[in-house]
Amino acid sequence: MANKKNVKGNSFTWIQSFAPESVERVTNGDSLAEPLHVEIHPHHSSTELCNNSCPGCTGLVYRKQEIGDKGIKPERLIKTIDSFKGKARRVIFSGNCIEPLMYPDIKEVIKHIRESDVVFYLYSNFYYGNQEGLIEELVNTELDDYARISLNAGSNDSYNLVHRPKDTNSFHRIIENGERLARLKTERDSPLFVHVTYLLNNYNCGKEDLEFAVMWASRNKGINGIRFTTYQKPLGRSMPKMARIPEEDFLKARDYLHELKREFDRDDFKVEITNEQVVLQQKIKPFERCYVQEVFAVIGFDGTVYPCTSMASPSSPEIYKFGNINQENFWDIWERRKRKANFSLEKCFDCTRAESEINSGFQGLREQYTSHV
Ligand code: SF4
Repeated sequence: MANKKNVKGNSFTWIQSFAPESVERVTNGDSLAEPLHVEIHPHHSSTELCNNSCPGCTGLVYRKQEIGDKGIKPERLIKTIDSFKGKARRVIFSGNCIEPLMYPDIKEVIKHIRESDVVFYLYSNFYYGNQEGLIEELVNTELDDYARISLNAGSNDSYNLVHRPKDTNSFHRIIENGERLARLKTERDSPLFVHVTYLLNNYNCGKEDLEFAVMWASRNKGINGIRFTTYQKPLGRSMPKMARIPEEDFLKARDYLHELKREFDRDDFKVEITNEQVVLQQKIKPFERCYVQEVFAVIGFDGTVYPCTSMASPSSPEIYKFGNINQENFWDIWERRKRKANFSLEKCFDCTRAESEINSGFQGLREQYTSHV
């Protein structure tokens, strides 16, 4: 498995480093018997989607729709995860409008991931990190697991502006939860990689916020790094107003982050600043076909299997909905002709940053390959 502690490179180079044989197969036009990873947005019909209402949420569209009592049935989720043993290499629990730790008995679900012997990544706002036994379960791994705390603020006030949480003291609770996670990880000598992420915007780019976030993450031994990013364009959904940081404010924030980086970077703790622009201008699909859906699978909040994170939405065209794990076996869906035939770029939304990197990476290799045959 790749060393994710190496923060250089992008999502494609990362796949190349841990699954070079799979990259070669897909470049040569062969399909994979199993996805390299499966991303799941675990949501149960009995809970709300999320404890926050962030204007910049990638899955914001969910909130504007009638979602009824949709969700993933626990027995189906567990059965699907059990079936990954010896097949998928990694499972990611992430959001896209939902908070994974709200899923009832999430610890039991994580236990099944452990038993399936796949690497586990968690992307969470970590508000529910204080539920009994959860942190113990997260650090209880021998694999190259990963926990991301999406903080995006350096004070309670800015947290409330950025995330619009139901509990207006969420920031304090998340800070405490993060400290507990870092402490227990260190005490148990766990290999879990703990990462804090911070999406810069108008409400959180002041010096005090940035300084708090870096100093807090740095002084909690066990947190491996903090990563600062900016919004990207295009991205299917319209950008929230708060993403438009005035150029002058952004440059001040960026320069200050570089100062903090010089001061706080250590061998076991990194401050990453991923781009130098107010908004990352991503090219519009500079590739001819979608390779992401050949290497990954995404199970959305209602159990539907999609080709990627961008398309994991109830508003996606039907051709991007391959089947539902509440009714069917995941592997039947993965094998389905409909999925395999679906490489059109015409009707899909904009790729996320990672998806664009992966598609562009494969396209580059494919061009090299075809020029040699
Ligand atoms: S949005 Fe990007 S990753 Fe998703 S199906 Fe379209 S091309 Fe593939």
